[in-house]
Amino acid sequence: MECRKDCHSLSLILLGIISITTSMLLQVDGQTINVGLLYESTNSGMEKIFQKAIDDANESNEISQLSAVTTAITPGNAFETSKKLCKMLRSSVIAVFGPSTTLPAAHAISICDAKELPFMDTRWDFSVQLPTINLHPHPTQLAVALRDLVITLGWRGFTILYETGEYLSIVNELLKLYGTNGPVVTLRRYELDINGDYRNVLRRVKKSDDFSIVVVGSIETLPELLSQLLQVGIMNDEYRYVIGNLDLQTIDLEPYQYGDVNITGFRLVSPENQRVMEILKSLDGNEEASFQNVSCPMSVNMALAYDGVQLLAETTKYVNFRPVQLNCNDNESWEKGFTLINYMKSLSISGITGELKFDNQGLRTDFQLDTIELTSSGLSKIGTWSSSQGFSINRKPIQNSFEVDNRSLVNKTFVVITALTDPYGMLKETPAKLEGNDRFEGFGIDLIAELGSKLGFNFVFKIQEDSKYGSLDPVTGKWNGMILEIIEGRADLGITDLTMTSDRESGVDFTIPFMNLGIAILYKKPVTEPPKLFSFMLPFSGEVWLLLGLAYFGVSVSLFVLGRLSAAEWDNPYPCIEDPTVLTNQFSFANSLWFTVGALFQQGSEIAPKGLSTRVVGSVWWFFTIILVSSYTANLAAFLTVESVSSPIENVEDLAAGKGNVKYGAKRGGSTFTFFQEANYPTYQKIYEFMKDNPQYMTTTNNEGVERVEKENYAFFMESTSIEYVVERKCTLGQVGSLLDEKGYGIAMRKNSPYRDVLSLAILELQEQGVLAKMKTKWWKEKRGGGACSQDDGNSQASELGMPNLGGVFFVLFVGCILASLIGVCEWILSIYFTAQENKVPFKIVFRDEFKFVMQCSGNTKAVKYPKISRSSSSSECSYGSSGFKSKRSSESIDSIPMENWDDSRVHNYHSEYEKSHK
Ligand code: GLU
Repeated sequence: MECRKDCHSLSLILLGIISITTSMLLQVDGQTINVGLLYESTNSGMEKIFQKAIDDANESNEISQLSAVTTAITPGNAFETSKKLCKMLRSSVIAVFGPSTTLPAAHAISICDAKELPFMDTRWDFSVQLPTINLHPHPTQLAVALRDLVITLGWRGFTILYETGEYLSIVNELLKLYGTNGPVVTLRRYELDINGDYRNVLRRVKKSDDFSIVVVGSIETLPELLSQLLQVGIMNDEYRYVIGNLDLQTIDLEPYQYGDVNITGFRLVSPENQRVMEILKSLDGNEEASFQNVSCPMSVNMALAYDGVQLLAETTKYVNFRPVQLNCNDNESWEKGFTLINYMKSLSISGITGELKFDNQGLRTDFQLDTIELTSSGLSKIGTWSSSQGFSINRKPIQNSFEVDNRSLVNKTFVVITALTDPYGMLKETPAKLEGNDRFEGFGIDLIAELGSKLGFNFVFKIQEDSKYGSLDPVTGKWNGMILEIIEGRADLGITDLTMTSDRESGVDFTIPFMNLGIAILYKKPVTEPPKLFSFMLPFSGEVWLLLGLAYFGVSVSLFVLGRLSAAEWDNPYPCIEDPTVLTNQFSFANSLWFTVGALFQQGSEIAPKGLSTRVVGSVWWFFTIILVSSYTANLAAFLTVESVSSPIENVEDLAAGKGNVKYGAKRGGSTFTFFQEANYPTYQKIYEFMKDNPQYMTTTNNEGVERVEKENYAFFMESTSIEYVVERKCTLGQVGSLLDEKGYGIAMRKNSPYRDVLSLAILELQEQGVLAKMKTKWWKEKRGGGACSQDDGNSQASELGMPNLGGVFFVLFVGCILASLIGVCEWILSIYFTAQENKVPFKIVFRDEFKFVMQCSGNTKAVKYPKISRSSSSSECSYGSSGFKSKRSSESIDSIPMENWDDSRVHNYHSEYEKSHK
């Protein structure tokens, strides 16, 4: 018996070997094996991937070549499916890949079952039966994966939304999770109501306290369900979903990815898989195709069909068979069908859906699912689940969020609204006709371009024609300007000198500030006053000058008096006469004045005090003058070179007080105006009242304000950065006073925009890298006439003195000379008059003779024609005492008259004159 059994098994093995060898020999002859595909006419991707799978399989198969027999069917039409399948069977197919809709698939399976033809099922199928091989992971295993995920996420109680009864087998595992005493699991079925929506059931979910929801249903209905979840208002950061469908990645999730809703699910096919990407590229015909961040067009069905073809191709290498034509109308079946099925189940190959391995029931085992989560940059893998090892979560570190977010802006196109305000946004000055973004330049334009290239987004600039940035109407509660454009979605981003205010923050979101500033006053620079003619008088105050004059006079008088009192000052006029009858005193009143003035001007005189009292007065006067003159000299340089400047206003208080009758204003509806409107400080309130009562001083743009400052007696409240820009170009204008507040400019966007953090981070980076500082230098100091006024700053060196500084000195000299000339002429006339009188000669005669002599302009000797010269002599002089005419003392003293010039008659004359005058 034993021997017979062994011999039987041995003969079976031998038979097997012979049959495989024969089959190999059979396949070598290059026969073509037909494989059938029934696909829904709406799913053309299926046919493409099927063909691609056949091509790829043939490339690596030298034994046999597969050929696709494909037939499109109307979705859901089972009768048509049966007919087309029967037709297909006549073309000797060795296996059929079936439709994906339930009813046609069920019909196809039963026909294949009757004909014992392998049916390759790629659907989510709950009942596997021979001769079917189902490549899809079985729902019961998916249920385990879902249960593991819910446990991993730590949910305590949740709602299950399931589509139809057949999904209950998945839900079963979840219902068993907590047992009877655990947290509550609510089960709700979602199905279209009479209005064709799910909203009723979704509203009930909203009213419940459950924020954790498991959705189990078909991929066809999922997009509509998600969109209605959003409409009902339960698709936000409070809710978390687990989606129990492996095709989650094939639907467009963009509408939900920025709302911070937490969606987790599974996928069998990874779009990041190299092989998948290659297949998709070849199907799409686009080498650049990438599906990492958008919905992936490769459904599980398609991927499984691809893998199924590879599995079948592999099987054909080893199983001996001869394809036969089958007829639906007879009872014939294909006896090799089960052999093929069994062989496929025993094979294990690696496909694009992972390892293809089956248990003896034909269910997939040892497969692996990616756990995916929806982030603002699309679906991302956070871990894996495998039927053998369960969960392993490898969530990406959170600090990578910048990279992730970065990607979320990639290839997005933003409408950026800006205003034509120098230097943030300006029209290019070029004769060429420019279009689109090329028309504009400026700091704001550069900043957006910089962010665009950093974060990979595109942008289109739009101009706010009325230059209104946006303010809230307190009565209507409505916004205007750029802020309104952003709120109403006509623009995505707003950039200009847009100040971040608390009001605006209530309507839009801002990035971190890219520039800091404060309010200041723009006004004309203080004008330099021209030097005064008598600026040489400035070193001393008027008081000092007055006292100096009095001191001069007082000292002269005291010298005169002390000179007369002091015996030492009385001299013998004729030293040759030992006992003089008269004595002379050098300190006549005139000489006293002359001595003091000589000392004052540091020139000295030939008068030397001899008496102790006069010497003491002389000394203290010299001391006084030396100090006074040194002080004057020291102060003079400063007064001649320092220019005095004057401005009617020095600060905001002066403006509010109306000093210099300076009018003022700010940009209408701008943040500067709002600042005064909301201020509590009395000065600012006064300024606001003025602006409110005088709307004619308010402007539409900054440029208008600047023009008014230039042309009128007007001050403009402006932001310091804009003032910096203006004073670089308009040298007559400057900032008055210090900053009134501190704030910043930011990029505005819609409230709760997901781009805020990414943009803020990028701005921070640009700040740290010095890019923003460089851009500011470019637009403030270099471009468009920048730097025009910078040379003004460097002229603090001493400048040369001009006529305006020293004119007064020349004037004094000139007036002094004129005065001297007048006095000279008067003296001359008087001397002629007195000579004529003395000599009893007509005035005319003496005048003619004197005039002739003067006009000769030569000769230093003069003949004495009229001896009785009393006062006109220029060569000698005498004192006549108090009577008669006061003498003028020349620099030549009486002592120094050379002896040869003396004659007795003259001495006699002097004597007689003296006596006469003292009678
Ligand atoms: N930056 C201001 C704003 O955002 C405009 C200019 C101003 O008011 O001084 O409204």
